[in-house]
Amino acid sequence: MKRILNFIDGEFRPPCSGRYLPDVEPATGQVIAEIAESGPDDVDAAVAAASRAFESWRRTPAEERSRLLIRVAELLDENFDELARLESEDSGKPIALARRLDVPRAVRNFRFFATAILHAETPCHMTDDRALNYTIRQPLGVAGLISPWNLPLYLLTWKIAPAIAAGNCCVAKPSELTPLTADRLAALTREAGIPPGVVNIVHGPGGSAGRALTSHPKVPLISFTGGTKTGADVMAQAGPLFKKVSLELGGKNPNIVFADADLDQAVATSIQSSFANQGEICLCGSRLFVEKTIYDEFLERFLEGTKKLRIGDPLDDSTDVGALVSEAHRRKVEGYVALAKEEGGRVLVGGKRPGSLPERVRDGYFLEPTVISGLDCRRRVMQEEIFGPVVTVTPFDSPEEAIDYANGTRYGLSASVWTQDLQKAHRVAAAIESGTVWVNTWLLRDLRVPFGGMKESGVGREGGFESLDFFTEAKNVCVRL
Ligand code: NDP
Repeated sequence: MKRILNFIDGEFRPPCSGRYLPDVEPATGQVIAEIAESGPDDVDAAVAAASRAFESWRRTPAEERSRLLIRVAELLDENFDELARLESEDSGKPIALARRLDVPRAVRNFRFFATAILHAETPCHMTDDRALNYTIRQPLGVAGLISPWNLPLYLLTWKIAPAIAAGNCCVAKPSELTPLTADRLAALTREAGIPPGVVNIVHGPGGSAGRALTSHPKVPLISFTGGTKTGADVMAQAGPLFKKVSLELGGKNPNIVFADADLDQAVATSIQSSFANQGEICLCGSRLFVEKTIYDEFLERFLEGTKKLRIGDPLDDSTDVGALVSEAHRRKVEGYVALAKEEGGRVLVGGKRPGSLPERVRDGYFLEPTVISGLDCRRRVMQEEIFGPVVTVTPFDSPEEAIDYANGTRYGLSASVWTQDLQKAHRVAAAIESGTVWVNTWLLRDLRVPFGGMKESGVGREGGFESLDFFTEAKNVCVRL
């Protein structure tokens, strides 16, 4: 059985506890690896290695850091097929999605920040003729990076690349549910020539390894992506130590379709935005609002398309919908389907475990894509993040009503708006309380733009130069003339 060890100071090391946790393949329910069950001692060792490496890494010229990061991107690309397979096996996502989204994005993350640091600028201000004020940006030291299971390699590289590009060293804690690609990434950073201690990866449960990182006095910066409840705990640990914190949290994203939308595009993309990665993407549009005059037509086409999605072995190239990440998570999602019925909702399609599955994956954690109508927007199913293949549909009368519905949750991560009326698109986009609004599209990402959530979907923005800002401290030097 493969053992996933910690990666500390450029070496793979067993956990101090000597204990391992099972890593289960969601599509089969079988244990495919054992993962280090790390705790505070392992985090201490990783932080010590990162602190030692920081002294020389911070002085490594930007061009050299850039060259090493580009080498990591090349190696990720060279190992594309293996990474896609590992990502699919470990998380249950269709391999086609890992090929289209996860692995290419991991490559882009490294390339993007490798080149961004060559173009970073800092401002200089003349204060009348009395002084010259300039800003320098310096890395902070050891960055603590905590990432979830839904886009394991994509989100881990989205943190590691800017952190080390900016001159920090890092200790990353991937989700214990999906350690496989993080483990490969560790080996590839070493192969690329990233010096020992610059990238450290500690595996294990969030409550021990993750918390040891958020509460570690020598880790001045935490970048966290995960659930809102966990985000609150991260803040509670990091706050009293005055750490710099970025939180990318949950969402309950509205997808608003106006009567004047291009229906072919709106239907096709809404099926994607509802069910891609089994709905386990923080940016999925889990609340669909459709203007009343086209509600019936839209719904008919949306349900027809949903029924055509192929549920099956994630390793099969033709699969659209794979397995949910764990048995416990499937139970949680099924609980919300049951709750929807109690709350007066109607399950229009799905809501069940698929009847027939290929032999290899017959015991996997699958659930049919599910569409629910008839719920009041204040009900729990329309308020709480489900993070599974479940979408609600609700008709609306006017742009004002759509905006009210859209803004009527504690979340504010992303939204989609479908209309061909330019003015309406701009007006509605400005009124929606979310960090990203897509107009006539979904999940189209430009890595230069700020990314993050409003309200309880997060604190801070990452992306582009904002990530480089986050991973550095600005210092003002004022010189009297
Ligand atoms: P969790 O919040 O459960 O876990 C996220 C990470 O935090 C994991 O590595 C986890 O470790 C770790 N962790 C758990 N408890 C603690 C703790 N007390 N202190 C420190 N670290 C801890 O989220 P999920 O992994 O379940 O991911 C799904 C969530 O992530 C959804 O809410 C989704 O919306 C959100 N998300 C947000 C994104 C965004 O950009 N806004 C993008 C993607 C996902 P372990 O798993 O090993 O316990």
